[in-house]
Amino acid sequence: MDKYLNAALKAVTAASMICREIQGQLVSEDSITKKDKSPVTIADYASQAIVCSILNGEFPSIPIVGEEDSGSLKQDENKAVLEKIKSFLGDWNPDQIIDAIDLGNGEATDLFWTLDPIDGTKGFLRGDQYAVALALIEKGEIVLGVLGCPNLDYDEENNGTLLYATKGNGSVACNFSMKSSRDITVSNRKPEESVRFLESVESGHANHSDQAKIINAFSERKDSVRVDSQVKYAVLAQGNAEVYLRLPKPDMPDYREKIWDHAAGVIIVEEAGGLISDVSGKPLDFSQGKKLLNNKGVIGTNGQFHDMVLENIK
Ligand code: AMP
Ligand code: MG
Repeated sequence: MDKYLNAALKAVTAASMICREIQGQLVSEDSITKKDKSPVTIADYASQAIVCSILNGEFPSIPIVGEEDSGSLKQDENKAVLEKIKSFLGDWNPDQIIDAIDLGNGEATDLFWTLDPIDGTKGFLRGDQYAVALALIEKGEIVLGVLGCPNLDYDEENNGTLLYATKGNGSVACNFSMKSSRDITVSNRKPEESVRFLESVESGHANHSDQAKIINAFSERKDSVRVDSQVKYAVLAQGNAEVYLRLPKPDMPDYREKIWDHAAGVIIVEEAGGLISDVSGKPLDFSQGKKLLNNKGVIGTNGQFHDMVLENIK
């Protein structure tokens, strides 16, 4: 597992550093609107290109299931975007960039990587939280996860947290230089104590009104924070919140969560001692290709609050 972990850490760190540099300089022309209207920035592409080229260089036979593809980048009107990506990647030529991005269009097989080059693109564009999320999935089980969270403080001096977990070995948080690290565990608060909730910032991604009802059921002893991306899993795994709510939107009954939006965060929370399920309490099933076809919504807790939250949802 070490060889996979080392490569994953190297890839996520390199991508996170480029994203941080781009976020500092981002202007609105740097995002193109994809068919589904979600903004995709030069950073999503640069991040996917760099992660895929590192992983493919070391493990050419392991497919990568990534969020982005180069489709719209190849159109003439987006030449300037491609040039901009090139300016951040150094001496790559446009074809190399396109080929590297498309290394991420692999299929989910018995052993594959799944990558969200920037999870929380809307947060990234606002200057808020986002994550570079990479996981390795073997026979439908997540065996490794790495989350790069450039805007999540590691300590007072270090802005940026890198988190990782491998199956059975616990979870670790470190700074991007990896000079300092610590084992992490979820909070040990119990239902009779106060509870801190995590939710999406974007109202289009979760059912905030039903979530408010669940949160309010905890009377005075509650607090809720809205955070973009899998940084929510990072906060839960480090013991800084007890419950992550992601109830499905009633107006989108057919929406299914994407594996790259969850895989890395899920193993990091579970290895830190937490619990993840869908809204009916079923474990998330990563054996169904690119989407969690057998699940609806996501609930994450420190374990102690899980049954109580599921009861409230019912
Ligand atoms: P978050 O920052 O936690 O809201 O999550 C961002 C992710 O939400 C994006 O990567 C999208 O893939 C995903 N997303 C988009 N639409 C929906 C939806 N209707 N329900 C759940 N997740 C969504
Ligand atoms: Mg995402």
